[in-house]
Amino acid sequence: MDARGGRAIMSAALTRPEDFIGAGLADPRDRAALAAVAARYSAAMSPRLAALARAHPQIARQYAPDARELTVLPQERADPIGDDAHSPVAGLVHRYPDRVLLKIVSACPVYCRFCFRRESVGAGRGAMDGEAIAAALDYLRGNEQVWEVILTGGDPFVLSPRRLAALASDISSIPHIKILRLHTRAPMASPELVTREFIAALQSTRLAVYVAVHANHPAEFDAPAKAALAQLADAGVGLVSQSVLLRGVNDDVETLEALMRAFVEARVKPYYLHHPDLAPGTGHFRLSLDEGRALYAALCARVSGLARPAYVLDIPGGAGKIPVAESALRREGDTWRARDAAGRAHDYADPADAAGKPDSRD
Ligand SMILES: *Cc1c(COP(=O)(O)O)cnc(C)c1O
Ligand code: SF4
Repeated sequence: MDARGGRAIMSAALTRPEDFIGAGLADPRDRAALAAVAARYSAAMSPRLAALARAHPQIARQYAPDARELTVLPQERADPIGDDAHSPVAGLVHRYPDRVLLKIVSACPVYCRFCFRRESVGAGRGAMDGEAIAAALDYLRGNEQVWEVILTGGDPFVLSPRRLAALASDISSIPHIKILRLHTRAPMASPELVTREFIAALQSTRLAVYVAVHANHPAEFDAPAKAALAQLADAGVGLVSQSVLLRGVNDDVETLEALMRAFVEARVKPYYLHHPDLAPGTGHFRLSLDEGRALYAALCARVSGLARPAYVLDIPGGAGKIPVAESALRREGDTWRARDAAGRAHDYADPADAAGKPDSRD
């Protein structure tokens, strides 16, 4: 266990620019720029991920530091989705009435180069201490509309099983809270964190437990990752997915389709496909909304509802998540126009719509 109470990420062999250069995952000519990147943002990659990254540039791009991270666009901001504006107590974000985020740890097993919280996550940054957790629990006790607590960070899977069980027990002592959700990249990034003890801690609570698994490319589903997901599914944990739409990683329909099928095959229900947030130095990953909409429509035309995530944008500044997809149904005068997956238009006369009803006074 490290000083922040998290489990040491023993296999994070690559952390310094020199490590990535030595592994062939960064360009030696970028040494000076990479030193500047390293001064701002943590980096970490296990030997397993480094091997995957050498075989799949789409994995290397997600984790290996890149000189382009020094290019900050005017629209980019340190707190892209406005966490700070909705933080009544330190570490807790309450944007939607029925659910809160607890940023319980700041460390992750990897540091995604496109991370929306890249200015606040990182090795050696503070986690919530006992006092902060007590203040968060007090807040939850006093806010009866809160139904769900989401552990995030950082990656809550770096918590020791003992700390997770203690936290779950504290949260479950608040009667109006019914759901515990954990947002994690660990099954893909550090599957060795999914131990029997960690799963036992997830099962130790009366709360319904869901895990939202972050993965962006089908090649992340290697044997250890699939085994970790199977253990979670077998343990009765509800599994949903989160992915970020990323240029150079998953910006073609074949890759998105394979990614969503990989989730479903691993018993993970595709949940969100995020349009990248305006985090500093992430412009090289960003598609336009038009490009994203076209890709998402093509994905939806290929896969069943079981494999379809919602494509969402977090409105910069803290107004929340909204669907990005163009609506397939729009009103046209007294009727509705419905567009099918092939783009053909159909009329839908709504029998329950007042505008379409014969006037009963006649
Ligand atoms: C994304 C987010 C959640 C979770 O939202 P869901 O739509 O329930 O997945 C909760 N709180 C905050 C502040 C968020 O940004
Ligand atoms: S695992 Fe999540 S919180 Fe951690 S760096 Fe990646 S995107 Fe950010």
